[in-house]
This record gives sequence, C-alpha cells and structure tokens, in this order.
Amino acid sequence: MEPIFLEPAFKDYIWGGNKLKTLFGKNSPYDITAESWEISTNKNGQSVIANGENKGKTLGELFENHELREAIFGTKTSELDKFPLLVKFIDANSNLSVQVHPDDKYAYEHENGEKGKTEMWYIMECKEGAQIICGIKESVRKEDLPQVLNSPNVAEYLNFVQVNQGDCIYIPSGTVHAIMGDTLICEVQQNSDLTYRVYDWGRVGKDGKPRELHVQKAIDVANVGSKPEIKETNNWQEGEHNMISSQYFKTDKITVCVEFNDCSNKDSFYAMNVVKGEGKIKVQDKEYNLKLGDSFIIPAKLGEYTLCGNMELLKSYL
Ligand code: ZN
Repeated sequence: MEPIFLEPAFKDYIWGGNKLKTLFGKNSPYDITAESWEISTNKNGQSVIANGENKGKTLGELFENHELREAIFGTKTSELDKFPLLVKFIDANSNLSVQVHPDDKYAYEHENGEKGKTEMWYIMECKEGAQIICGIKESVRKEDLPQVLNSPNVAEYLNFVQVNQGDCIYIPSGTVHAIMGDTLICEVQQNSDLTYRVYDWGRVGKDGKPRELHVQKAIDVANVGSKPEIKETNNWQEGEHNMISSQYFKTDKITVCVEFNDCSNKDSFYAMNVVKGEGKIKVQDKEYNLKLGDSFIIPAKLGEYTLCGNMELLKSYL
C-alpha cells in the first residue's frame, strides 16, 4: 500500500483570493479561488486520486469499493453510507457570510437525511490583528434570536476573536460564525454542505443580486451562550499532539523537525494536510515529496511510515 495523494475540487465564491495558486501552487481554473476541497467525496466537489493504481478515480469511487473499504478507510467506516469527513483549504480575501450549520438531527429531519456540520479551523496564515466571529454574545437569550439574526446590525451581537497563525478553533454545529478576511484556513468538518446564511455584509453575488439568506432555519438551529474555544498551537513541541477530539473527528498536529515515525491505524484512515514547510514521506523503500498545501490519505493498512524534513501537518481521523 502507498499514501493516496489527492487533487482537489475548487470553488470560486465571491470572497476568495489567489493564495491557493500563489502559495500552494494549486492549478485552479478560476481567477479567484475561495476554496479547495482537498479530501472530499461530497457530491458538490470530489477529490480525485493522483497516484497509484486508482489514479484518476474520485475518492468517492474508492470509498464505494467495499472490497477495499476496510483496508483503506478502516473498520470504523465499514457501516457508514458516506465518507465521514471533508477537509478544505479556505482563502478568505474578504469576509465570509455570517452563518450557522445544523446538527445531524435537524439536517436529517429538514434536509432530506443529510448530515449536519461540526467543523474546526486551523489558521495557516493571517494578517496581524486578524479576527474571526465565533458565537453569539452572552447577553443574547434564545428568545432574542429572531430579532438579533434578522437585524442588519447582527455583527454587534457576535463574538469577534483575534487570531494568529497556528490557532485552532472548534465550531460545533449551532455556533453562529464567520471567517473574516485576510485569513488562510485549513477546515476539517463533517461531510456536509449545509449552510444557513444570516448576514452577507450588504454585498451582492456575481449576478448583481444579494445572495440568499436562510434566517428562519438559522433561528431554529442557532445556540446561545457558547464561548469561543481557541487553542494556540504555535509553541507546541516536535511530535504529535491532539488539537480536537470530538465525536465526529479527531485532529492532531504533527510537527516534524528532522524525522517522525508513525504507523497507520486499522480503525481509521488518516487524512493528512501539509500546513507548513516541506519534506518527504517514506514508506518501506519508497519516498514521496511533500510540500505546503499537499493533501493525502494514509490507508488503514499502510503500516509504518516516516515523515522527514521541516514541516507541520494536520492528521484527522475517526
Ligand atoms: Zn462554517
């Protein structure tokens, strides 16, 4: 077995920039690229396998191959009807809309059996003083939500939090949030594309009209009284450390200075993203180059592997 490298699907949302091309060398077909869906089987954008015997297939096709399912994706995925994760790079040149995602229960009942969306952000780059929005201010009560989320001044009721490169932010479903401009983020989330948009900063879409809002659904699912959870990881030592451990996924950060030895896990694939630096991965007598912005999967039955060089990776798994 070998690591499975992936080519992403690109999105040209209006708030995007050009860093996915200029910093990561991605070959997006768009002038402005907002997102690359790096590890995705979502129907709205699939990753394509870039190496090995399955080269050219979508990741979804590989997941649907039940003979290979456990060997590649692990025993925890054998009963799943859908690949569980979606990992993206997000280049926010300007603010994303203020939005909220439903949980599994609401999505199942109101969105044709879809999954909800809990997510986490890892700040790969940001400008000095950059902020994000995470959660509603403590003074707002549940019964205030119709007035607050319909207000053109909704931002006044939200928590603005300053972030730095290396910060990790957990966004459970039901948390009103917005990624703000001048941030470059790796997002790990449940495999879902359900977003309820609350406020879009008064701007218009490509067709010159305001983008659709979904305020009533947002009122249904929004939580009040949650505090932003920010973890600073910048000074974490060499090696592997856990950032997020949720019921939907776990994400560790691996900091490689010279060499780091690891082994695959029969329970779950590892979704890997290079978020800083460059190096190599060695598996038995083969080696593969790794650079900033590369994404790959470590199959459950790969065995031992070594990461070497000077780099940081996110490792997400079940
Ligand atoms: Zn979101």
